[in-house]
Amino acid sequence: MTSAAQSTVSLDGRLDARFARELEEMAIPWQAEPVPDPRLLVLNESLAAGLGLDPDYLRGSDGLLLLTGNLVPSGATPVAQAYAGHQFGSLSPRLGDGRALLLGEITDAEGHLRDVHLKGSGRTPFARGGDGLAVVGPMLREYIVSEAMHAMGIPTTRSLAVVATGRPVLRGTMLPGAVLTRVASSHLRVGSFQYARATGDASLLRRLADHAISRHYPGAAEASHPYLALFQAVIAAQASLLAQWMLVGFVHGVMNTDNMTISGETIDYGPCAFLDAFDPATVYSSIDDTGRYAYGNQPVMAEWNLTRLAESLLPLFHDEQEQAVALAQEALAGFRRQYSGAWSAGMRTKLGLPDHLDDDVTSPLVDELLGLLQAGEVDHTSFFRSLGAAARGNPEAARSVFPDPAAFDAWARRWSALGPDADRMDRVNPVYIPRNHLVEEALAAATAGDLDPLQGLLDAVGSPYDERPGLERYAAAAPEDFGAYRTFCGT
Ligand code: AMP
Ligand code: MG
Repeated sequence: MTSAAQSTVSLDGRLDARFARELEEMAIPWQAEPVPDPRLLVLNESLAAGLGLDPDYLRGSDGLLLLTGNLVPSGATPVAQAYAGHQFGSLSPRLGDGRALLLGEITDAEGHLRDVHLKGSGRTPFARGGDGLAVVGPMLREYIVSEAMHAMGIPTTRSLAVVATGRPVLRGTMLPGAVLTRVASSHLRVGSFQYARATGDASLLRRLADHAISRHYPGAAEASHPYLALFQAVIAAQASLLAQWMLVGFVHGVMNTDNMTISGETIDYGPCAFLDAFDPATVYSSIDDTGRYAYGNQPVMAEWNLTRLAESLLPLFHDEQEQAVALAQEALAGFRRQYSGAWSAGMRTKLGLPDHLDDDVTSPLVDELLGLLQAGEVDHTSFFRSLGAAARGNPEAARSVFPDPAAFDAWARRWSALGPDADRMDRVNPVYIPRNHLVEEALAAATAGDLDPLQGLLDAVGSPYDERPGLERYAAAAPEDFGAYRTFCGT
């Protein structure tokens, strides 16, 4: 490749610094730490193409420097972003990017502004006691799970690449270091608003809200009360997102307010995991002792986080505190309604039932089924998929997973009588999700230098609804001896 060609594919002049410019009180210009020996582990070519980036450039030596923050394109101003966060219920007023940098914003092929962000790029002024680093396993976990979520059509930050740094990182033992390049419609969080509010600077809070409206909800600017409209839009986005998580059995694991976006994208894949057996009390995270972020608690915790957002926005709702609170409460009441509506509609689709059916018919059917799944410790994902086959007249796979198939048969007779549409079910019930035992297998192999299992898993979960011969092991439930699953946070 000629040097002239190279200059056309680099990011020189393509990264804006809009956040840094508009919200400088919340942005500390900073540099990544040098990496000794960058090696590409995985590159998302289709995402790169959508951003107008040349995969060959990203694979090359300059590309790897860029993907580790060691080459800053001209015009870019990498910053560590400030934010606060309620972590497991207690407020940390100054969290911020302790090991991450916002490189800048890029306009994608569809004209949308997207953050390009590095995770694991070294200590920043927000690092506190942390080393600022990340290791291969957890960065690949984020890559796998975020791309699986995207493939299922669930709003999420994306993963552009994971680059091994060549630097060992101490995590109990020495593990290989890595940097993840994350792409998001922004990194504005509930915690960003908590931070702005806590500064007491009314103009900063207003500027942050205006920035959020302009980036995510431009329609709110036309509303009679733009800031209330912003809040209502975040509520609607999160209600929809939470319903989608619940419908596919996603457990985020660390729904702190710094890990909840304003855009409605899923963010921060730390201790996340998908349900194996259906059980609302499921907790995977090793640090979630009380089950605060258990699978079944997630909608309530989202509402709790949105209440913290409301508190941060109060001065923008009304000059009189009492009236501001009343407006916030009225908006917040919409969350349960919208969540329940989205979840019920989604459940109807998972069961292939027509939309016109009355809730009085579908609700008891759904409740009874979830009771059977829980009592039978039935694998969530494979059950719903096998129900598609049942709708086509082959109930054996679905019924055989129940310790008491007769109870399922009785349920299935009532369900079949409603005329379920199997094709509709197959479009929403995934065959392939990042199953816990497969994720662990891929991460362990990649950490030891073998990237094949990672690639195999990414191929499977990249087309989650499209059942393909030869991929049976990606659709199967965890082996009996896999045992109780534990995940670890922030590593
Ligand atoms: P997380 O649990 O990933 O959402 O991170 C919570 C906070 O801890 C954020 O402010 C992170 O930037 C910070 N953090 C997590 N791990 C590290 C690390 N190894 N070094 C510095 N800061 C970290
Ligand atoms: Mg976080």
